Amino acid sequence: LIATLAAGAMVVSLAACSSGGSDGGGEGGGALVGVAMPTKSSERWIQDGDAVKEQLEAEGYKVDLQYAEDDIPTQVNQIENMITKGAEALIVASIDGTTLTQVLQDAADADIPVIAYDRLIRDTENVSYYASFDNYKVGVQQANSVLNGLGLVDLEGAPVEGAPAGPFNVEMFAGSPDDNNATFFWEGAQDTLAPFIEAGTLVVKSGQTDFEQAATLRWDGETAQKRMENILTSSYSDGTQVNGILSPYDGISRGIISALTDAGYATGEEWPTISGQDAELDSVKAINSGEQFATIFKDTRKLATAAVEMTVAVLNEEEPEVNNTDDYDNGKFVVPSYLLDSQIVVKDNVNEVLVESGYWTEEEIG
Ligand code: BGC
Repeated sequence: LIATLAAGAMVVSLAACSSGGSDGGGEGGGALVGVAMPTKSSERWIQDGDAVKEQLEAEGYKVDLQYAEDDIPTQVNQIENMITKGAEALIVASIDGTTLTQVLQDAADADIPVIAYDRLIRDTENVSYYASFDNYKVGVQQANSVLNGLGLVDLEGAPVEGAPAGPFNVEMFAGSPDDNNATFFWEGAQDTLAPFIEAGTLVVKSGQTDFEQAATLRWDGETAQKRMENILTSSYSDGTQVNGILSPYDGISRGIISALTDAGYATGEEWPTISGQDAELDSVKAINSGEQFATIFKDTRKLATAAVEMTVAVLNEEEPEVNNTDDYDNGKFVVPSYLLDSQIVVKDNVNEVLVESGYWTEEEIG
């Protein structure tokens, strides 16, 4: 409670010091906002960065948008530079959510409010608000996509009548252990898969069921590919097949697909059901070709809007809208959050969800 009050007080005092957007009408008046993104190596962050920049500029702000190529010291330096350049607010999608304590102390000392973008920033009181998706629910959706591909549930997770008894062999991947989202995705997925594992419908043949065993540092596709290769060698060289693979991110799914292809799996009947996240172009193509079963679409344009609205509100001394004040404890306090909904995308709804919403064009999807 004390931390929450402190954070609230900070917002008010910071806003009072700010000159950005001070006419209350969403006019940025040329105030600078620093936007720190993790990497350009994944499409979603490019979409996020572009959308945040465009929307802030439309509100009259200047934007310093930086990408750190997944290198922590680079991100710290970039944020340090934004502070030096006189940024009035920071929007930060962290690489490692625990490594920004010092630089965010510097931001607080300069009365600069910080919005945590998509990924929670941990171990600091110096974050004002958090804009993200319902990350636990994303994990539930990832597990439901695997279960749906195996014919066990519908896309909402409701049991299918006359579902096959299995047993199905499944393997599970998790995201980067330094990203707070990874544990939320994992927990949502585990809670959803657990009854099927307990009933014996699903069997994790490798026995690798701990987050630590499944984690993929920096969400790296090659790391995932190697782990999948090792699992195929150690647990499936007796000729048994893997039927389903829980993957938390499209880049990891692509690594898994390469390992399967190299091991001689052919698309069609024996090809396993693979989940994903982010609706990256190559993965949408893989969904159309049947290599990937599903992805989770998180509309980065809407996340950008939520983060920009928070930033503008804070700079205008207003309370931003939040819809979750329970779930995102960053180790110091529960960060007030605005969480958006995500959607499962399978072959059948690619057009409806991704093309009709204008996220990708038909030409891009190919
Ligand atoms: C994001 C996911 C993304 C992953 C890898 C997570 O923090 O929430 O959308 O797939 O990072 O970039």
